[in-house]
Amino acid sequence: MVKKVDHIGVAVKSLDETLKFYKDVLGMKLEGTEVVEDQKVKVAFLPIGDTEIELLESTDKEGPIARYIEKRGEGIQHIAFRVDDIEKAIEEMKEKGIRMIDEKPRYGAGGAKIAFLHPKSTHGVLVELCERK
Ligand code: ZN
Repeated sequence: MVKKVDHIGVAVKSLDETLKFYKDVLGMKLEGTEVVEDQKVKVAFLPIGDTEIELLESTDKEGPIARYIEKRGEGIQHIAFRVDDIEKAIEEMKEKGIRMIDEKPRYGAGGAKIAFLHPKSTHGVLVELCERK
């Protein structure tokens, strides 16, 4: 059903500050950044192996990442699993009794089609399904 860990989303206060750790300390490479207006977030992509770390900085103090940091502080915010067909995957989740945050896919960073599962249905982890062409 899910194919691999597509990416891990990390909520951070400042991309510039956080990149110092990922680049200078861990030696990872910044592939690029993108603003996703829909989610009020600026994303930095750091590929590693066949997955990547996505650092998420809020562009709005009311955005979901800003609210997350306010409640829980910086840290891992979600895990994204790759699927081949997201519409089919969403249907399958619903058939299995999973509560979806997104009943329909929306567009995330890099033009991926994404949908979030509700953490109440996943033992506390915000899980994202992600389809890429
Ligand atoms: Zn994500």
